[in-house]
Amino acid sequence: MSSFEVKGWCPGALRPMMSGDGLVVRVRPHGGRLTRAQALSIAVAAKIHGSGVIDLSARANVQLRGVRADSHLALLDALADLGLLDPDVETETHRNLIVTPFWQTGDGTEALAAAVEAALADAPALPAKFGFAIDTGPAPILAAVSTDIRLERSVDGTLILRPDGAMFGKPVSAEEAPEAALALANWFLDTGGVTAGRGRMAAHIARGTPLPPGFTTAPANAMTPPGPGIHPGGALVGFAFGQFHADTLMTLAQHGALRVTPWRMLLVEGATSLPEIDSLITDPADPRLRVTACTGAPGCPQALQPTRPLAHMLAPLVPQGAYLHVSGCAKGCALPGPAAFTLTATVAGFDLIRNGKASDTPTHAGMPPDAIRRHPETLFKAL
Ligand code: SF4
Repeated sequence: MSSFEVKGWCPGALRPMMSGDGLVVRVRPHGGRLTRAQALSIAVAAKIHGSGVIDLSARANVQLRGVRADSHLALLDALADLGLLDPDVETETHRNLIVTPFWQTGDGTEALAAAVEAALADAPALPAKFGFAIDTGPAPILAAVSTDIRLERSVDGTLILRPDGAMFGKPVSAEEAPEAALALANWFLDTGGVTAGRGRMAAHIARGTPLPPGFTTAPANAMTPPGPGIHPGGALVGFAFGQFHADTLMTLAQHGALRVTPWRMLLVEGATSLPEIDSLITDPADPRLRVTACTGAPGCPQALQPTRPLAHMLAPLVPQGAYLHVSGCAKGCALPGPAAFTLTATVAGFDLIRNGKASDTPTHAGMPPDAIRRHPETLFKAL
């Protein structure tokens, strides 16, 4: 296993992260939605101040890559004009919220998201990865998304607050929900959920920490994460590795407002047909949807090998129903959880991990990249 640097914080707009291709500036859209004007302006800013390359993160954020250090302040001004800049790093860091993209006008989700966002400004200091999800459709759709405190619906449609990893939630009204979510975050801290600045709710629950009274209502059965296509609310479109050029964002914005999803896809709000843009993934059977790969070398300074060319080549060979994760180091940024096949870069090549995450013990260690490229099919057949 390769070593990697744990930064202990997530990049934002005010506190960007330096990468191999310049600054990575992460924009957190309010309620997970970009108006057409915001999307267009972000695309322009990505070209003026950065490389024009944009990533979608697994936390439903938009990342502008290749931003020049001497352009950062001008980019912040542009984001402020768009209403996309928090007043300070602390507020930005606390606003770690994922919202279901399938909300409907008038169903209360927008207002709930705004209220929770406002409450998070007063959130206690939580671990960097600690997050909140508003998953208030008829049944949870974000169940597989990494987060810590969830607002969902029970079978009978009651709004419930559920700690990630717990079987049951507690009924709350929409008015009570923001304060109740913060109270649950405080419970996590008060009951020892954090060790050395790190900690996640599911692990805390798994240790058997008893919840406060009232967490007795089951959520509705979770739905399978969606693929590209037409959905209630709009057209969902994907991108290879969640990355696209600013020009694509400009074109998409002409079709409607955009909702950013944690599946590295965008929902074009109100669209009833799929936009015809070459670089989009619109077929749910596209093999690139069965692969994830982080930036890798040379874009990430911690990367020990290039990742995406290999992931592109292997995508059509990944067995149906399986998932491949190609990681530039053991940190596993692109997929913190397990995959059927994980290739983790090392100085010598790649380690293969079956049904595990990037930092797990490999099944096969030190496979040379050339050998994988020459006989890619054996990677999946021999196992
Ligand atoms: S997992 Fe990938 S993106 Fe994350 S630090 Fe390692 S090489 Fe960089």
